[in-house]
Amino acid sequence: MHDLLIRNALLLDGLGAEPLRGDLAVRDGRIIALGSLLEDRDAREVIEADGLALMPGIIDSHTHYDAQLTWDPGASPSPALGVTTAVIGNCGFTIAPCRAGDRERVMRNLTQVEGMSLEALRAGIRWDFESVPEYLDRLEERGTTPNVAAFVGHSSLRSYVMGDAAVERTATAAEVAEMRRLLLEGLAAGAVGFATSTSPAHNGEGGKPMPSRLADEAELRALVGSLKDAGRGLFMLTKGGQTRIDFLESLAAESTRPVIVAALLHNSTNPDAVFADLDAIAASNARGHRMVGAVSCCPLSFDFTLHSPYPIEGLDAWKPALGLKGTAFRARLADPAFRQAIRDELARPAVFRLFNGEWHKVQVVECARPEHRAYEHRSLATLAAETGKDPLDFWFDLALAEDLDTVFVALTLNSDQDAVGRMLRHPASMVSLSDAGAHLTFFNDAGFGLHLLGHWVRERGTLTLSEAAHQLCGLPASVFGLRERGALRPGYAADLLLFDPATVNRGPKRRLHDLPAGAARLVTPAIGVHGVWVNGARVADARGPLEPEPRPGRLLREFAT
Ligand SMILES: [Zn+2]
Repeated sequence: MHDLLIRNALLLDGLGAEPLRGDLAVRDGRIIALGSLLEDRDAREVIEADGLALMPGIIDSHTHYDAQLTWDPGASPSPALGVTTAVIGNCGFTIAPCRAGDRERVMRNLTQVEGMSLEALRAGIRWDFESVPEYLDRLEERGTTPNVAAFVGHSSLRSYVMGDAAVERTATAAEVAEMRRLLLEGLAAGAVGFATSTSPAHNGEGGKPMPSRLADEAELRALVGSLKDAGRGLFMLTKGGQTRIDFLESLAAESTRPVIVAALLHNSTNPDAVFADLDAIAASNARGHRMVGAVSCCPLSFDFTLHSPYPIEGLDAWKPALGLKGTAFRARLADPAFRQAIRDELARPAVFRLFNGEWHKVQVVECARPEHRAYEHRSLATLAAETGKDPLDFWFDLALAEDLDTVFVALTLNSDQDAVGRMLRHPASMVSLSDAGAHLTFFNDAGFGLHLLGHWVRERGTLTLSEAAHQLCGLPASVFGLRERGALRPGYAADLLLFDPATVNRGPKRRLHDLPAGAARLVTPAIGVHGVWVNGARVADARGPLEPEPRPGRLLREFAT
């Protein structure tokens, strides 16, 4: 007797094979048979797929659900968008290990670096752990809707071992040894690897660099080397322009562990950089080193106000404004010298920069005052030209006239469609970087998989359905060593996504105020999704998310090497 029989579906195996018409049977949370099972009427539930596509559930390898999962085991909105496994702890911005006295600092840093509401974090996080093993145990006890794999985060290790000095200096040999001990403890408890960031875009409270950015090469070598000692785990890093692929290749070679290089986004002002990185990663693969480039299939767009203008906060010229509040902050925004320094910096070439002075890519979304409504949905380039002002002056003047409440949207990186299409087809690429759980008021790419299937497969024909399913399932499962997941095969976990290839997509973004303390977030609804199952339990249907109890997700602690 089967628990579930899905009949007459277009089966995408997740490994890149040609789609086949057939049926799929599930028992005890696992796929037990595939093919022509039409004779078998003996199932508890039969779903007539009528030619809809059935693929393994999406594996989202770049999320920041570490905090959210403590108050929302459902990992909203990912499962309803087809995601059945989420990897947390990316960039090394985890919440464990953390002593009670350091919680406020960790939350303040997350607020700055990942755009999370401080009020939501304060009201939401359940601090019932200190160490990484305790954090993992609490997650497992509470249960989660998707499966979860967790990185040990470098910035948390550093803060735990070095205290305030974590954001001020390199570590001593004794401090590195203690970080190694904690990393090995986390890996032994089931963490999937070690995550860090060297990106200059990653700043914590008061504009100070996140702790991992203070690490020297010796510290990184020692910590990545612990993966070799542990005989397990992979290394992920979000790199700044100064971090070279050949250095990362040396870490892959010494540790013999896989390396994920993020965040490879296309930058129109330095259009070849991302391809140089991807080519260097492909060359390292040819030398036998396991490396992969994490790319995004979504244009990076930010909804923001000048209260917290994430797209420009990484600029050096912005530093004098960081940490300022109220009148002092407004005075700085009005200061002609401050504005000129920003203009000067934007005019200089940069290896990596989120915003590059492309004024036609910044729009006014919503004005606070009725007399400014005519500006809405128009670009700063257009408005500046019409009013005869410099674009930056127009931008800051408008915001100052509205108590900084004007909402803007900036299309920053990854907006050149032809270039992104080439990245998606590059042999060293893995589609990733949803950043789900972070930046919630700025954007929400948790539906990246549906965007890949709708936009890049159906609308643009850049990938076939089979190739997209491989990018979203089989490839990340093999990179992360997720056992018996990421493919439609007998014996594999029944993590499934049933969708209509003719309509699948993510819908337009909407703003909700449903986070703890009423904090806001952007969400996009699923389009064309008919069902999502995690370990055989249905977590979404055509109307949206379901909340099965007990939560069907597993905390993944064992990985193939
Ligand atoms: Zn990240």
